[in-house]
Amino acid sequence: MYYEHVLVAVDLTEECDPVVKRALALCEGRETKLSLVHIVEPMAMAFGGDVPMDLSQLQQQQFDQAKERLDRLIVKYPALKKEFSHLTYGQPRQEIHHLAKEQGCDLIVVGSHGRHGLALLLGSTANDVLHGAPCDVLAVHLIKRT
Ligand code: AMP
Repeated sequence: MYYEHVLVAVDLTEECDPVVKRALALCEGRETKLSLVHIVEPMAMAFGGDVPMDLSQLQQQQFDQAKERLDRLIVKYPALKKEFSHLTYGQPRQEIHHLAKEQGCDLIVVGSHGRHGLALLLGSTANDVLHGAPCDVLAVHLIKRT
């Protein structure tokens, strides 16, 4: 059984290379469609929701920067197609699930640091995405950051 539509979620750090490469390897030589997504998390969310200042300009800068990085990634990996790339605001788990469902993806690929102990309690996007996922999820093992 081969996957028909793979959704690769990237955080746009240098760590997304192994995640993208694994997704590309899964699709290589097949008819598999490959979609790409990055979620820009609202700044207010990072500050706990209640911020007594206007963050809209900063938020726009953050979005523009993410768009630039996503475009660079598409240039670096020509198998990633601009028309199948998505940049949205929101909470990564929610947006990734929504997109996977909407686009009929049968596999989501994310990176995982294999955290344990306290770091695991603090949560990881891979864990988050796995819970309640509308399809299979592949967690690509990433080398731990020091
Ligand atoms: P983290 O647990 O936040 O270090 O992220 C692990 C993996 O989750 C990354 O390698 C990406 O595959 C995915 N991920 C994290 N943040 C985002 C984001 N903002 N948008 C899309 N995918 C993300």
